[in-house]
Amino acid sequence: MKKIGFIGLGVMGKPMAKNLLKAGYALKVYDIVPEFVSDVVAAGAQQGSSSKDVAAFGEVIITMLPNSPHVKEAVLGPDGVLDGAKPGAILVDMSSIAPLASQEISAKVAEKGVIMLDAPVSGGEPKAIDGTLAIMVGGPEEAFEQVKDILAVMGASVTRVGEIGSGNVTKLANQVIVALNIAAMSEAMVLATKAGVDPEKVFEAIRGGLAGSTVLNAKVPLALKGNFKPGFRIELHIKDLQNALDTAHELGVPVPLSSVVMEIMQALKVDGKAKDDHGGIIQFYEKLAHI
Ligand code: NAD
Repeated sequence: MKKIGFIGLGVMGKPMAKNLLKAGYALKVYDIVPEFVSDVVAAGAQQGSSSKDVAAFGEVIITMLPNSPHVKEAVLGPDGVLDGAKPGAILVDMSSIAPLASQEISAKVAEKGVIMLDAPVSGGEPKAIDGTLAIMVGGPEEAFEQVKDILAVMGASVTRVGEIGSGNVTKLANQVIVALNIAAMSEAMVLATKAGVDPEKVFEAIRGGLAGSTVLNAKVPLALKGNFKPGFRIELHIKDLQNALDTAHELGVPVPLSSVVMEIMQALKVDGKAKDDHGGIIQFYEKLAHI
């Protein structure tokens, strides 16, 4: 079994690392916040002192960090992955970052013989805990073949979609669909509430029809209880939509609906709700409708 270095033990990284330990992999882990490391070390991982240290240990190095600058810092920065990784090591970046950043980092690590895959995930914390994430992978087929058993520990579906960057293009598509779905659900539920119909009943009535979806099932029950504990924070979804808008602008592709939902999420951020779950988009509508 390959030795794994794991960097980034936040909401997602922690349960993903724990599942790899449960499956019998030897893990060395690192996070800039020491208290996030102790839980995973208690579950059997070795404690790393830096990204460099963790990379020197791993034949496979996994990163699960917030956004492009964090991945650049952990991989290319001082005491980073590139300083420690051996030639032939495979870097699997599972963070959701800009596709262009994946391509830039991949080109830099290739100079040292390190192969990179971008492998962002969908499913959120519950699926990270269950090991049933959807994982979308970009990068060389041969490297993918070498790590797909490792990815299968963390995901129920592991799909190679193309070359480096294409994992994150797929994730952007996913995030556009999820953001627009939550906004649509919020708009509809607030409309029904103002029209005097119990939104719980509306949900019960429509979930089996064409409007039914994974997003509806996951987000409506929590939104109707006013439970916006993350989950997936609005600030992270703003990051993903910004990456989608930047990619669209580079390509000259119109994305009007994404722009509108981005404005809604920015308004919520200004209102102090950046750390709420993205199901909290409904609060924008509730405020305007005086609910
Ligand atoms: P998080 O903020 O909870 O965790 C990120 C971790 O990275 C933190 O513990 C932070 O201390 C650490 N970190 C930051 N910079 C670092 C560095 N230079 N070196 C080492 N550690 C560093 O975020 P998360 O919710 O776990 O999300 C991680 C990624 O997965 C993001 O790109 C996010 O968009 C994506 N994602 C999240 C969810 C979700 O539901 N939370 C779902 C799917 C995808």
